[in-house]
Formats: sequence, C-alpha cells, structure tokens
Amino acid sequence: MSKLAYHRILLKLSGEALMGDEDYGIDPKVINRLAHEVIEAQQAGAEIALVVGGGNIFRGAGLAAGGMDRVTGDHMGMLATVINALAMQDALEKAGGKARVMSAIKINDVCEDYIRRRAIRHLEKGRLVIFAAGTGNPFFTTDSGAALRAIEIGADLLLKATKVDGVYDKDPNKHADAVRYDSLTYDRVISQGLEVMDTAAFALARDSDLPMRVFDMSQPGELLKILHGENIGTLVH
Ligand code: UDP
Repeated sequence: MSKLAYHRILLKLSGEALMGDEDYGIDPKVINRLAHEVIEAQQAGAEIALVVGGGNIFRGAGLAAGGMDRVTGDHMGMLATVINALAMQDALEKAGGKARVMSAIKINDVCEDYIRRRAIRHLEKGRLVIFAAGTGNPFFTTDSGAALRAIEIGADLLLKATKVDGVYDKDPNKHADAVRYDSLTYDRVISQGLEVMDTAAFALARDSDLPMRVFDMSQPGELLKILHGENIGTLVH
C-alpha cells in the first residue's frame, strides 16, 4: 500500500449528495455507496471525519422565503443535518465501520454532543466521526461547519464533494466553454469572484491556511485517489 498524502481529512457531503436522483430525502443506494467509499479510504489508513448538510430536507433560507421565522427555519435545517448524519452513521456501520455522530446542538438521546477532544480521540481510535448540526448557530451553513471542524480537529485537507468535478471559471452547466482549474489560491478565488463555498466558510478556511479540494464524489473511487495524492478536481490553497 502506498503512503497516503493525507493523514486526517474532513469530508463535506451536501444533503443533495445523499439524495441521488430523488427529489427529496435520502436514496439508500447512494448513501450506501458513499459509505463504502469512505470505509475503503479509511482502511487505506486515513482518519476521516464527515460533515453532512441538510439541503435534501430543509434549508432555513428556503423556509424563510416561504414566510417562516428565519431562526426557526435554521433550527429545522440543523435538525435535518442530524437526520442525515444518523442515516450516514447507519450506512457506515452496515459497511463495516465504526461511527459516531456528534451534534453541535444538544440532542443527546440520539447522538453525542460535540466535544473537540472527544472527537479527536474517536478518530485516533479508528472511528469515523460525523459532525451534525453545522456550527450550531442560525445564519450559518454546513460549509462553515465543515471549515470550522476541519480546523478544530487539525485536518490536513477539507474535501468538498459537489455535483461538478471542480471549480470552473464560469458555470459549466450553462457554458460549454467553461474551464476547470486544477488549483487556485484563495486570493485568486476572491479576485475572480469564483463561487467555491459561502463567504463565512471561505474566510475561515483561508485565514487558517486550510487546503480544500472540490471534487465530484458521484464518480466512484475519487476519494481514494485523492488520498493517494492524485490531482482530482480543484485544489484551493
Ligand atoms: N444550518 C444552520 N447553521 C449551521 C449549519 C446549517 O442554521 O451552522 C441550517 C441552515 O438553515 C441550512 C440548513 O441547516 O440551510 C442545512 O444546511 P446546508 O444548507 O448547509 O446543507 P447543504 O446545502 O450542505 O445540504
């Protein structure tokens, strides 16, 4: 087995990544495939933490647009991420791993509270840790939660799995001549106004020199290739 390029990573999966081709909720086939890939990457020697989004169920901004109080909507969004995290925990354990959900909001009949040192201990013991409820605060996103937790646990790399295979100079779904970047500096992302993640998350990652790779996890095997140092997707550093 070749030596891995990264020791500890944080993988951000959006809620939509769990939805597959469905309109809502979780596609069991998709979550099971993702879980197997995570286990495969862990067995290769990496410590892996995950952050899951909730956009396949609720987003606070969307609920607020329909007239709901924004903070209540964000609380619902955070609870949606807990639902996804429990589903991911189940899928990871069915795939042969050991996993723990740690939530930023206290809901400790169903999962652990987030305690940084305990999270690191889980990783050291070979457990997968799924961080739920984002940052625990309204008006943030799970991208911010992912950047925050990655920095807190000392991850070598933040991996953002998206539906496109990296960062482009313009939307590749709308422009046939869009060009994908192999790598970008944080400053260049800002100067070119590229959309990589929301501003709060981006600022956190940049200020802590956290490297981030944007890639398409619907392509099987990409996660393991990245851990082996292959230049998949776009590196932002
Ligand atoms: N959320 C929040 N604070 C956080 C993280 C998430 O209030 O720190 C809420 C917010 O309403 C958000 C929803 O949870 O819309 C789901 O998270 P997100 O939109 O980031 O999910 P994704 O787009 O990754 O599926």
